[in-house]
Amino acid sequence: MTPDLEAEAARLDAADPLAALRAEFLPADGVVAYLDGNSLGRPLRATAQRMERFVHADWGTRLIRGWDEGWVDRPRTLGDRLGAVALGAAPGQVVVADSTTVLLYKLARAAVDHGVAAGRTEIVVDTDNFPTDRYVLEGIAAERGATLRWIEADPASGVTPEQVAGVAGPGTALVLLSHVAYRSGFLADAPAITRIAHDAGALVLWDLSHSVGSVPVRLDDWGADLAVGCSYKYLNGGPGGPAFGYLAARHIGTLRQPVTGWFGHRTPFAMGPGHEPAPDVRSLLSGTPPVLASVPLETGLEQLGRAGIEAVRAKSLRLTSFALDLADALLTPHGVLVASPRDPDRRGGHVTLRRPDFEQVNARLWERGVIGDFRAPDGIRIGLAPLSTSFAEVLAGMTALAEEVAR
Ligand SMILES: *Cc1c(COP(=O)(O)O)cnc(C)c1O
Repeated sequence: MTPDLEAEAARLDAADPLAALRAEFLPADGVVAYLDGNSLGRPLRATAQRMERFVHADWGTRLIRGWDEGWVDRPRTLGDRLGAVALGAAPGQVVVADSTTVLLYKLARAAVDHGVAAGRTEIVVDTDNFPTDRYVLEGIAAERGATLRWIEADPASGVTPEQVAGVAGPGTALVLLSHVAYRSGFLADAPAITRIAHDAGALVLWDLSHSVGSVPVRLDDWGADLAVGCSYKYLNGGPGGPAFGYLAARHIGTLRQPVTGWFGHRTPFAMGPGHEPAPDVRSLLSGTPPVLASVPLETGLEQLGRAGIEAVRAKSLRLTSFALDLADALLTPHGVLVASPRDPDRRGGHVTLRRPDFEQVNARLWERGVIGDFRAPDGIRIGLAPLSTSFAEVLAGMTALAEEVAR
């Protein structure tokens, strides 16, 4: 580590208005640099306490009464809070439920069913989207006799408005894209793409898994139709934490998701004959909500609300640009390629670096307590969760990587 770089990291940490929030996370013994908060966020101390309290007090003593005392409404109450803190969504449009894959299926099926009924049988998606998104759409296309229209995305950047304009047309039912690409970290121009899709008469579903909690999202302002995302990445909701889904108010009552279980019924506890969808965003629900698994999201959102998403984004950009500076200084001389956008307006919260031997290099980094993640064929993702990551940590991780590539 050169003294100059150490001084620079120290200066950035000293000037970081969010620095104090790092102490709110549980320490991770033996971890030198955690560079994977974009895959699995870290637990807050408050989360450990809240989980304990929930088991003892809420579940342990309220028992079945808990359902009447708030659990039944949790998908919506937590959804509203998420909408306000991180999604730019007015109340009544977001639920917390299911896994991202399942909720993605439900929302995409609702949109495709709607399109097919109007003679629109094409789904636009890109070849570099997250695998589960592509696989789910393949399944829906097979179920509904729809056709996938693939955009060939550049794996080092992402889908452009021009590309969407080139494929969306009178046959398009749905455009599904990731707001931040999981591989490159490319930040799509969501307002422009949403407009283009709407001009073609199509609906848009945004996958926010890699942007929520790190990049400001303005679903209502964009005019988005549908959105999904994870709670366990930048929102620190814990492994297997539930997903969230957004259904714009104007579509409630018209778009119908296919898994018509009792929690999406108008009156679940009447237990009557025949499914009648709830007249509100509860229509997105299917079965018993994952109450226990959603406890960490509460504390995650409390912290994010205190920090403010604009401050988080500002720090995120400082973190990624510091990582890029370090990559240029320490890594590119050793044949490492930067496979993420350099334009801050098009960059999400992580940076991807490539070299043919990175699978082995990443394994050696894990042994040293430097935890990034490997993405086939040759990428290491440096995920920089703004609430939990220091500039000194970025320097320590990148220095370790530099030592490994110089061996
Ligand atoms: C992480 C991620 C998922 C994960 O879906 P799960 O159902 O939680 O496994 C889906 N889509 C994108 C874009 C992701 O980044």
